[in-house]
Amino acid sequence: MPILDDLTTSGRTGLFIGGYWRPSSDGETLDVLDPSTAEPIGQVASGSTDDAIDAVDAAAAAFPGWAASSPRERSEVLRRGFELMTAEAEDLAELIVLEMGKARGEAKAEASYAAEFFRWYSGEALRNEGSLLRAPGGDKHIISIHQPVGVSVLVTPWNFPAAMATRKIGPAIAAGCTMVLKPASDTPLTALAIADVLSRAGLPDGVLNVLPSARSSKVVGAMLADDRIRKLSFTGSTEVGRILLEQASARVVNCSMELGGNAPFLVFGDADIDAAVGGAMIAKMRNGGQSCIAANRFYIHGSVAAEFSDKLSAAMAATRMGPGLDAGVDLGPLVNRAAQNDMSEVVETSTGSGAKVLTGGHAPDRPGFFFEPTVLGGVEPGASILGQEIFGPIAPVVTFDTDDEAIRLANDTIHGLASYLYTTDLSRALRVSEALEAGMVGINRGLISDPAAPFGGVKQSGLGREGGHDGMLEFLETKYIAADW
Ligand code: ADP
Repeated sequence: MPILDDLTTSGRTGLFIGGYWRPSSDGETLDVLDPSTAEPIGQVASGSTDDAIDAVDAAAAAFPGWAASSPRERSEVLRRGFELMTAEAEDLAELIVLEMGKARGEAKAEASYAAEFFRWYSGEALRNEGSLLRAPGGDKHIISIHQPVGVSVLVTPWNFPAAMATRKIGPAIAAGCTMVLKPASDTPLTALAIADVLSRAGLPDGVLNVLPSARSSKVVGAMLADDRIRKLSFTGSTEVGRILLEQASARVVNCSMELGGNAPFLVFGDADIDAAVGGAMIAKMRNGGQSCIAANRFYIHGSVAAEFSDKLSAAMAATRMGPGLDAGVDLGPLVNRAAQNDMSEVVETSTGSGAKVLTGGHAPDRPGFFFEPTVLGGVEPGASILGQEIFGPIAPVVTFDTDDEAIRLANDTIHGLASYLYTTDLSRALRVSEALEAGMVGINRGLISDPAAPFGGVKQSGLGREGGHDGMLEFLETKYIAADW
């Protein structure tokens, strides 16, 4: 693979600190596996706590200069980053497939989606607006300005190794922050490739530092214990998010959290069922179901449940599964063995409590971490599968009778990230959208992600928003200046 060979032979599989590539201080490395074969494809340096502090030193040293840089300079670095990433999207996509497993078409879509965050924040860098208000009493002027929050720690998951990184790096650069990115240990290569792109785009040394590490909790803990860190932006599970919020509380570090989801997918009796099945295939199967906004629970009106289940099962059964780089493949493997085992367990537990496998249900007998696209019918509203984030290609179908029941079932979760609904009745669509406890609603569509839109959750799905103008505000603090003149 040219991009992998290129990274390896040029030493860009090390830690990226202060503009230099280097091994970890204690020589530790971590293996990166190809999930379609379970074989190692390469090694990267695995950072220690000393390396983490070196990375913070580099980011702290670069901060005053970067915070004072002009909006135009930040904008143009991001624009060049967008252009380079777009020109090299095929190579980046290949790297994503190799270490993460998704099908090549999806990896290309991710590479371009990831690059779009740089394009969007190239524009936002120029729009750091403040405000001026004459105080109600007329005694002063109230000036509000936004300043970069400071040195930031970015922690990203493996499911969208490029987009989850650029969604944080883009606004941080635009805002004038410097940062240390700790990518997931399953997928460090893509993050290193992005650092290389930004370095060629002219990002000054030390603004972005990348610290792959198999010792996640130690290195992130060490950084959060350092007074120079003023921001944590995390994407990952609610479980780890809670731990990090607790650690961040010791120094009152500003936190943005994109945590787990448990998205309901509601299909009302008046919906266009073919469109709903099309949307369900995207909302469920994008990234093999390994997405925090993946449709996790299908609530279907009783009058259309049989038709929806049949058509969804047929579409799932027609999915072509295989190694992500093979031609014609729609569904790659899951990320690792644990994820594959989780799917078998979910099916076993569900069928044990009365659900029926309408299609799929097994890990096929082949190398790699594959699992068949699966539809489970006859799932009862209280079933355990509905309370967990499946994170794989399994769709449980539950029936409902009334709108109120659908809303109650949809909201019966600690999570509140994405939700989806299909209906041809506009007033029902908007009424239900308002009632859903979720940060995002897709009406008659299964794909909602957009760099220009505020992405985020309510309840235990997180704090703050990424993307849009809101995403840059997460890396800015408001300063109030009281002035007379
Ligand atoms: P996922 O299942 O998406 O990997 P995790 O929450 O386990 O979600 O991991 C998300 C990111 O958080 C990864 O980069 C991972 O290495 C990191 N991580 C996991 N556990 C911890 C921890 N205790 N402290 C800091 N970072 C962690």
